[in-house]
Amino acid sequence: MLDIEIGRRRMLGGALALGAASTVITKGAFAALPERRVAFRNIHTNDTVDARFFGADGWDKQGLAELNYGLRDWRNNEETQMDPQLMLLISRIRDTLGVDPRTKIDLISGYRSPVTNAALRARGGVHTGVASKSQHMLGKATDLHIPGVPLDRLKMAALSLQGGGVGYYPRDGFVHVDTGRVRHW
Ligand SMILES: [Zn+2]
Repeated sequence: MLDIEIGRRRMLGGALALGAASTVITKGAFAALPERRVAFRNIHTNDTVDARFFGADGWDKQGLAELNYGLRDWRNNEETQMDPQLMLLISRIRDTLGVDPRTKIDLISGYRSPVTNAALRARGGVHTGVASKSQHMLGKATDLHIPGVPLDRLKMAALSLQGGGVGYYPRDGFVHVDTGRVRHW
């Protein structure tokens, strides 16, 4: 998964690596992709974001910045640099399901700051599965539900793409999707 590897390097290298990464990707697997966008609605705040994150010139920094804000930790408004590969993966899952790109995906959880993650861990219950080194803390995970799409179909679409981790939480009504190691639970 070269593209995911590039995403990892960019996360490590920070903003300076963005130009280099987009050059590589434009010449590579995504050359045929004219535009990618994704839209979310945070179910806790009802905030929405609808942004183009990839275009003819590569990653769209403005769109990615809007998504960073839209996927912030809603409990304390902290944001981080979300993994652009996660936006790509989510848009592919959505497309696999034949869902319109303007459809606002229900966002249950995006970025989690260290404070929030520790609080969720301490609380247990629904969040018993919250890991100490959560992919949410790395800006590489979201918990999602797509309006009108049965949760098991969302799970199967996510699994089929082999883009990272997939967690199925039918009782809580969401699927966890991350760009970490390919695994599922
Ligand atoms: Zn999650």
